[in-house]
Amino acid sequence: MAEPAKIRRVVVIGGGVSGLAAAHTLARARRAGAPIEEVLIESNPWLGGVVRSETVDGFLVEAGPDSFLAEKPEAAAMARELGLGDDLMGSNDHARRTYILHQKRLVPLPDGLMFLVPTRFWPMLTTDLLPWSAKLKAAGEMFSSPPPIEKEDESVASFVKRHFGQAMVDNIADPLLAGVYGGDSEALSMRSVLPRFWEMERKHGSLTRATLESVRQRRTDGGRNSAGSGGGNSQSGKLPLFMTLKGGLQQLTQKLAAEVEKYRVFLGRKVLTLEFAPGGPGGLGDSCSRRFLINCEHYKAHDADAVILALPARPASGMIAPLDHRLSELLEGIPYSSSMTVSLGFDEKVRAALPPGFGFLVPRKEQRRMLACTFVHTKFDHRAPEGKALLRCFLGGTRDPDILQMFDEAVLEGVRHELKAILNITVEPLFYRIHEWPDSMAQYAVGHKARVGAIEERLLDLPGIYLAGNAYSGIGISDCIRTGKSAAEKALDFVAAGWRGTQKADDAKQ
Ligand SMILES: Cc1cc2nc3c(=O)[nH]c(=O)nc-3n(C[C@H](O)[C@H](O)[C@H](O)COP(=O)(O)OP(=O)(O)OC[C@H]3O[C@@H](n4cnc5c(N)ncnc54)[C@H](O)[C@@H]3O)c2cc1C
Repeated sequence: MAEPAKIRRVVVIGGGVSGLAAAHTLARARRAGAPIEEVLIESNPWLGGVVRSETVDGFLVEAGPDSFLAEKPEAAAMARELGLGDDLMGSNDHARRTYILHQKRLVPLPDGLMFLVPTRFWPMLTTDLLPWSAKLKAAGEMFSSPPPIEKEDESVASFVKRHFGQAMVDNIADPLLAGVYGGDSEALSMRSVLPRFWEMERKHGSLTRATLESVRQRRTDGGRNSAGSGGGNSQSGKLPLFMTLKGGLQQLTQKLAAEVEKYRVFLGRKVLTLEFAPGGPGGLGDSCSRRFLINCEHYKAHDADAVILALPARPASGMIAPLDHRLSELLEGIPYSSSMTVSLGFDEKVRAALPPGFGFLVPRKEQRRMLACTFVHTKFDHRAPEGKALLRCFLGGTRDPDILQMFDEAVLEGVRHELKAILNITVEPLFYRIHEWPDSMAQYAVGHKARVGAIEERLLDLPGIYLAGNAYSGIGISDCIRTGKSAAEKALDFVAAGWRGTQKADDAKQ
């Protein structure tokens, strides 16, 4: 008779949504009979990472992310899997309208703009956002698109300029990227940040023609959703643009956390480094000792057969340095931006005076500290008491990293000053909340795809170590869930191969 399989330990480091998705996948496998145990180590005293929801006097404040893109299915699928299907809700797209602060006033993004690509002639022709030279260039893109450049990658600014001109970069692309990534269009990689448009150019030349074609195709197919998410004011397809949960996104991370047994979760433990366990990285099949040691600040080391690093790239780089110096350097080279959200509740009078829509974005040339402001009460139901307003301002990013050094009073004063100038709000807010997120948003710089390729190649020589999180292939909640699940599945395959090896050896002894 074969001995029972040895229990393999898979340790997840980082308890944000990526690490929780990984731990949940492992916990499910254990409950289904896989001979493993999952362990989750997190340096904060709480789980969820940047996902945090708070209720203040009947307002629901999202400290970090407020929603996920509906067209990426992983987050909604996970919510349903966890029994949260009834709490999923879409954005109020009938009221969707996004403004750009342009020469001190709010100008709506033209209807039909699919992220950066104009698909409707009249709104583009009549918008105040672009000068005539830019309108003509945008209109002509359909007929005389520039040839793709012979490079592996290009900045978003350079790509958009080639197709639609500099005014489109300054007035639309840059504020959109600052509002979503806290990033800079001159630095961000077209290939990694907007891969669909990169591919469109290669296939069709003109982005306008390609986008119109894909819209037509979707309509013919009974159309599901938009080609270029974010930005434009048009409604297309049946899915909402954004989705969230009635009780806030923290519902999702709390449910995920509840899936992992409490005694397998170690909070307040900062991991410093990984090393191979004494005796070297012996194969799992023939060894009863574990493969890796995980050294923590102030605590004894944990041991593991496989490790998932579900962290921003910088702490992951430090941990991995003793195992592979080059891999550590590659990870270290992924830049991050820091950001801040300032949420303010207001009374009925303020709400009644706000322009209709989801909020506004602020281009660099307007010389404001605010990057974006969301009218949360319009974007989603269940976020503010009847008639009241909840504004969420987004600050920092690569444009203004110093804001995180400022005292809360000064930040609040600055935000109120800008809200007065832009929206004419002069009254005291009913409440405010400031949340800081240092080094939290990965910036996919030009060349990011090649860097990730090199990271993946190095990892082949480190079986048992897996990466998840927003540093590699998408910064959204759904991307993070995808990478967490995928890392867990690879770790399960890895330990199962060792476990099967042991079983075969035991069988052979009989
Ligand atoms: C302000 C803001 C707004 C956003 N808005 C949206 C949005 O609306 N929609 C969307 O889809 N995405 C949004 N994002 C992006 C998305 O929220 C993140 O990419 C995602 O939540 C990251 O999850 P994560 O688990 O990979 O990382 P994190 O949430 O950063 O979690 C990593 C965890 O690792 C822990 N850790 C770090 N170092 C160590 C160590 N040494 N030892 C142990 N643990 C450690 C940290 O404490 C943290 O809990 C937003 C992000 C921010 C910051």
